[in-house]
Amino acid sequence: MLVPMLTKAYAVRSATSALEPFELERREPGPTDIEIEIAYCGICHSDIHQARNEWGNSLYPMVPGHEIAGRVSKAGAKVRGFRPGDHAGIGCLVDSCRRCSNCREGVEQFCERGASFTYNSTEQDRKTPTFGGYSSRIVVDEAFALRIPASQPLERIAPLFCAGITTYSPLKRFGVRRGQRVGVLGLGGLGHMAVKIAAALGAEVTVLSGSPAKRADAKRLGAHDFALTSELKNALALQGRFDLILDTVAARHDVNAALGWLKIGGQLVLVGAPPEPLEVNAFSLLTRKSISGSVIGGLAETQEMLDFCVRKKVVSDVEVISIRQVNEAYERMMRGDVRYRFVIDLKTL
Ligand code: NAP
Ligand code: ZN
Ligand code: ZN
Repeated sequence: MLVPMLTKAYAVRSATSALEPFELERREPGPTDIEIEIAYCGICHSDIHQARNEWGNSLYPMVPGHEIAGRVSKAGAKVRGFRPGDHAGIGCLVDSCRRCSNCREGVEQFCERGASFTYNSTEQDRKTPTFGGYSSRIVVDEAFALRIPASQPLERIAPLFCAGITTYSPLKRFGVRRGQRVGVLGLGGLGHMAVKIAAALGAEVTVLSGSPAKRADAKRLGAHDFALTSELKNALALQGRFDLILDTVAARHDVNAALGWLKIGGQLVLVGAPPEPLEVNAFSLLTRKSISGSVIGGLAETQEMLDFCVRKKVVSDVEVISIRQVNEAYERMMRGDVRYRFVIDLKTL
């Protein structure tokens, strides 16, 4: 008989409570499972939205965290791709039906029977709750784990499994390339990865930010330009400038202004997920502009993104924190005060 294993974690117990110590059960690895001893887990703004039930679908107790990097500590008898000691990552998905057309096409996030997300979700039995990466270890089928080369710094790779894939996927899908102008709206965790990846794809990148203090970082991250969205003279200078704008803002904001900064026929791609509706004026779109959205990416594309980032030497800029600083990190992210991803060191758990 397989005995569940107690695992240390941090959890929220309601929409208004702080993160605090918690113990959860992980299954003993089955034949195709690996167990990962988690070294680092990034803090995504989606962790805050869900911990605080801002999207209205939260299950408690909740252990957030879907930017997971660590070392394989056990591998089931039929595991082919990993051995104990290998470095491995997990993003937002831990399982899906693997049979529907979306799963077969590699967009498991759109599994027709419902994907199993890393937390605030259930396993494919639709009963067992999933718990995320603010914990010491996790067990997952090897098909849902990513291979990290041993040479890579785990704390700077972890954020790629959500912030990296979420920005890489639409930039690739819309064919961003050399000669194009890309705007990145909001310079946080997703935003800074978008800047690095769009620049690595050859585009000319402008950071569109509400924070004057981030100006100095834009060039270092690989952007060619920086504009303060709150200054009218900048807003006018940006009119008709971009082929594509990737909008990563986590709260209500004016998308009509962003649409004005696009060329005729340009694309505004929403990846930010503010809980409140956004208002669009028809006139903002009549010049053949489009608004679309994108959510994370499938397993094969996530591995492709990681391999691309390793090749291009793209990693996240992180501030490593102890688990005891996690509530303060949430508050700082609410103020836009993150450079550019908080990553929890799980040794401190
Ligand atoms: P983050 O690190 O907190 O960055 C968000 C940035 O948005 C801030 O740094 C800030 O940039 C800007 N911002 C402007 N007004 C804000 C406000 N009132 N509150 C907070 N931020 C504000 O967040 P993130 O982790 O990058 O996530 C951004 C959004 O994407 C969240 O809504 C998250 O849920 C969503 N998300 C979506 C996916 C997906 O698959 N679609 C995946 C991950 C995350 P400036 O200071 O430069 O203005
Ligand atoms: Zn995320
Ligand atoms: Zn499916």
